This record gives sequence, C-alpha cells and structure tokens, in this order.
Amino acid sequence: MAKYDFDLFTIGAGSGGVAASRRAGAYGARVAICEERRIGGTCVLRGCVPKKLLVYASHIRTELADAAGYGWDIGEATLDWGRMIESKDKELDRLEGIYRRLLANGNVETHEGRGVIVDPHTVEVEGRTFTTERILVATGGWPTLPEVPGIEHAITSNEALDLKEVPKRVAIVGGGYIGVEFAGIWNGAGAEVTVILRGDTVLRGFDHDVRTTLFEEMGKEGVDVRCGTRVNAIQKSADGLDLRLDRGEHLQVDQVLFATGRHPHSKNLGLEANGVKTNAAGAIIVDEWSKTSTPGIWAVGDVTTRMTLTPVAIADGRAFVETEFHDNPTPVDHGAVPTAVFSQPPVGTVGLTEGQARDLGTGPIDVYRSKFRPMKFVLPGRDSKTMMKLVVERETDRVLGLHMVGPDAAEIVQGFAVAIKAGATKKQFDATIGVHPSSAEEFVTMATPVK
Ligand code: NDP
Repeated sequence: MAKYDFDLFTIGAGSGGVAASRRAGAYGARVAICEERRIGGTCVLRGCVPKKLLVYASHIRTELADAAGYGWDIGEATLDWGRMIESKDKELDRLEGIYRRLLANGNVETHEGRGVIVDPHTVEVEGRTFTTERILVATGGWPTLPEVPGIEHAITSNEALDLKEVPKRVAIVGGGYIGVEFAGIWNGAGAEVTVILRGDTVLRGFDHDVRTTLFEEMGKEGVDVRCGTRVNAIQKSADGLDLRLDRGEHLQVDQVLFATGRHPHSKNLGLEANGVKTNAAGAIIVDEWSKTSTPGIWAVGDVTTRMTLTPVAIADGRAFVETEFHDNPTPVDHGAVPTAVFSQPPVGTVGLTEGQARDLGTGPIDVYRSKFRPMKFVLPGRDSKTMMKLVVERETDRVLGLHMVGPDAAEIVQGFAVAIKAGATKKQFDATIGVHPSSAEEFVTMATPVK
C-alpha cells in the first residue's frame, strides 16, 4: 500500500505544470494536476498562442498593401475582427481539448479547482485533500496594474485578446514584450495607436540597436510612441476615455491597455504557512534543481520569475522530473536562451547584448552590424529596415550574442541559437555558406566590425 495518494501533485496546468506532469506520468509516476481556470495556462489561452494568431491576422494588412508593388490589384479589403476572434477562440478550445486528452492518456489525473498546500505532502482542492510525495507549484503569473486613479477603466492583455472590435483609438502603457506586440496588432488592424513610455525607448534589457531600430520602425508603421510620460489618471468622458499625462497633456482614446509587467501568482497558496520562501515581488525562490526552501515542494515557470518564457518553464519542469523521477540529475540551464518579440517588425535575440558583453569586463569585443532594406520591400517601396548584429569576444572569437529586428527574426534566430549554444566562433560563422538570397545570410557574411 503506497504511503501517499500520488507521487506528484502539480498545482497549475500551464505549460510548465503540464510538461512536468506528463513526463512524470510517462515515467510511471502516479500524478495529479489541478487547475482553477482552463487547462493550458497563460501561453495557450492568454498569451503566446492567441497573441500570435492576432499578429498573423493584423500583419495581412502589410501584405495587402505591398501586393500592388508585385502587380496585384486587390480591391478594398476589410477586416471582420469579431470573426477573427471567434476563429481564435475555436482554436483555443481545440488546443485545450488536446491538453486534456494528453493528460488523461498520460497517466495524469486532472482536478478542477484551486489547489492549496496544506502541508508539504498534502494539497487541498475545493474541499478534497490529496496526499502526495512531492508537490510542484506551477501557478504562473498575472498582469500587474499600477495604482492610477481610474485604473478600473483600463484593460490588461487578458481582456485585450478578447475584444470583439478593434478600438478606433487605443493607448498602450508600457513598451515591454506585450506593449510592443499589441501596438503592432492594433496598428495592423487599423486602430490609431499611442504607446506611452515612462522611459526613452521600448524593450528595456534588449540590445540598444534592437531597441532603437524597433522604436524607429514602429514610428514608420504609424504608431505614435510617446516617451518620458505617464498616465496619471483615467476618466470616462463623453468621448471615450480621457487620459491625463505628464505636463498637463491629455489623450482621448477608446481603450487603454496597461502592459506594465506581470507578477507571480503566489498568494493564498499556503506557501508562507509551509515555509516556502518568496522574494519581495512574491516570486518563489528556487535553486538550480527547482527546489524551494521547503523539502517536498518544487516550483517552475513564471511563479519563480527566473526567466518568464514558456519554453523555459517546460524545460525546467522536465529537468525537475528527470532529477526526481528518472534518476537523471538535470540542473536547469538558462544559458543562451533565444527569445522573440512578435512586434511588427519582429525581434529575435540570443546571448549577450553589446552592453552585457562590455560589462563582463573579460576583454575587448567586436561588434558587427548590418542595416538594410530587405529585398521583399524594394518593389513595394516600403521604407523598412532590417537590423542584424553579432557581438564577438575578440580573444576567443566566440559569438556571444546575435540580435535581429526584421521579418522572420524568430525563425532565423532559432537556428542560430544552436550555434551560439554550441559555442560557435566568428570564423565558423564566416566558414558557413549563406543561403542566397535571404536576409539570414547576412549573419554569415558580416566582414568588418563597426568602429
Ligand atoms: P515587461 O516587463 O516586458 O515590460 C513592462 C513595461 O511596462 C516596460 O516598458 C516598463 O517600463 C513599463 N512599466 C512598468 N511599470 C510601469 C508603470 N508603473 N508605469 C508605466 N510604465 C511601467 O512586461 P510585459 O507586461 O510586456 O510582459 C511580461 C512578461 O511576459 C515579459 O517579461 C515576458 O517574459 C513575457 N512575455 C513574453 C513574450 C514573448 O516571449 N514573445 C510575449 C509577451 C510576454 P520601463 O522600461 O521603463 O521599465
């Protein structure tokens, strides 16, 4: 007779929780997972997936506009956003169904409801208690709204993905991943978009050439990016919403989206009562094995804020299972994680920024940079530049960082990330024959470092 009901009980059925639970189930563990909302979590239901579908939908406007340059006469095109949202919702239902089936077929029992840790070997879900050898907390994160008078009139990315109509005039507060992605979506869908930044440009933490290029390109696409200002109050007005900005300025819009970051979903889970330490932001503190400060309890994904990206949560969840259920100790590896921002144009990046490489202080670096108009835009006369950049350690010749702003950046960077992860040198990049004609070939043909 087993000591516990389960070998693993996972709280939260998002990307990290589902991946870990399925892997543990595949290794023969008795696994349960609970979820208080729908199965799938942020990425599938309120983030990556629906966002990317809306990016595709809105980007078609650019393709239609450029078609004339290739000889196409296309009559007036209209966008039925409501129909688009319906199609997106159907796709999310389909994906949720797949997740449910994968769990059921993968030896994982699903319980609907909020899970609370009673003790390091007991979880309560809606009044039922389950005992378990190990608990994995994978509860993700939630959008953060700052305290601004009238903030109740604002929406977050959760609601933004479900709007049945494109707002005519929309303000976006914040220029991180979510802010710039929605700026592209709504701009492409025909809205008048104003992005409000407290700082001087978008995408804090990214390479400075990435930041300035995207800033310029968003402006060229017609997004009004206002820097060094804040929304100090929001009031309903006869004409929609009145935003009070710095220096007495006002902006009238129909919707305002706050994309001002996300916080870990760690409240009322029984963490504190069980000695699970969190940091000042509420993120669960874990070690390289995803262990919390309490034996028997592990955590992965956005609730740890280690690196708030879906593939990282999946990798960390699987590493935990390898270690605990497969006798294959696997520490998490967050080196050279590639990432993309699905702005328009998109950003792809892997490795160190130029600033980070300089801050290492391990010696001089060389920077290679190329800025050009992609061939596809020449005939349509589109004034849009692609930027590609390599950061190379001079002494070892290793490529420390690779950055791109331009069409297909996500697809291109994924391949190069393998080379960076493998420690490729600039000479090896140079020895690689380019694919011609492509933008990607620029990464293997950059000959002279910038001064
Ligand atoms: P980010 O942390 O990326 O950006 C937050 C933005 O809001 C910054 O521009 C920041 O300004 C600004 N900001 C923060 N607080 C305030 C405030 N009080 N008033 C005004 N501006 C403020 O958060 P996001 O919400 O965009 O995204 C959250 C996370 O979700 C990302 O970090 C990422 O991990 C994940 N994500 C990943 C995606 C992907 O992989 N493609 C897509 C979407 C989300 P400042 O620069 O001055 O600090």
